Amino acid sequence: MKKKERLIAEQLKESRKTVVLTGAGISTESGIPDFRSPGSGIWTKFDPYFMTRDALYNNPKSFYENGLKFLEFLYSIKNAEPNKAHFAIAELEKIELISAVITQNIDGLHKKAGSKEVYEIHGNLDEAYCMKCGRVTTFEELVKKLSGGQVPPLCDFCVNRNNKKIGILRPNLVLFGDILPPSFNKATNEAKTSSLLIVIGSSLEVYPANRIPANCKRFIIINRDETNLDSLAEIVWHESAGKALEEILSILTEI
Ligand code: NAD
Repeated sequence: MKKKERLIAEQLKESRKTVVLTGAGISTESGIPDFRSPGSGIWTKFDPYFMTRDALYNNPKSFYENGLKFLEFLYSIKNAEPNKAHFAIAELEKIELISAVITQNIDGLHKKAGSKEVYEIHGNLDEAYCMKCGRVTTFEELVKKLSGGQVPPLCDFCVNRNNKKIGILRPNLVLFGDILPPSFNKATNEAKTSSLLIVIGSSLEVYPANRIPANCKRFIIINRDETNLDSLAEIVWHESAGKALEEILSILTEI
């Protein structure tokens, strides 16, 4: 029987258009914990469910007081480096075997690894913007204001007649309850028009990204643990993303 890496490599070679959907599991080998892995998942340290749109818009001061440690933790992710899996995906795009990467991750590691066509459907750690005037600033600026005691962090440009700052900054991250950015529709369209989707490092528990595979012609899952969609996938490989991608890439350079 053929090994999984060979089967996936052959499918990639034959596919007219392949799109990759990644989740937090692709970045654990870069030292960034995922949400759900027992013992190490982010949920063991923080409860991301306080990061809701309602909490931010109803009481920004308390949102930022509760979220300070979490946002500082997110900011530290900016120092992470891509791993073998991110680099392999960038290489597969370069040799025209992958058309696009749809990622649920906010860590920016696909772009750092050199992938060009990346849909960050949950936002990123590069930007923040004013909830009043929409002016864009950096996520770094937002975290600096917070760490310096400005809670909530304020826009430097939105002032009232008394010169009091009135605009509140928010991260360009998709919070629970937020509408997904326009890139989500483009991303789902990319996936729908593909002939193969490869899901890597996602529990496929987070809506609506977990609906993407079912709307594709066929899909493969590479994930360390079982997912709810394993039974619908054409191939399921329970393996670490770095090892799996490295082996697939090495076969592709042979065939
Ligand atoms: P998840 O935590 O729900 O699931 C991660 C999956 O990855 C698990 O099923 C686990 O078995 C698997 N996994 C862990 N390490 C792996 C490895 N080395 N190789 C292969 N598989 C591995 O993550 P999710 O499905 O992406 O959903 C969580 C949400 O949290 C997403 O919305 C995502 O945006 C966000 N998140 C992002 C980051 C990040 O940007 N790096 C980190 C944590 C959470």
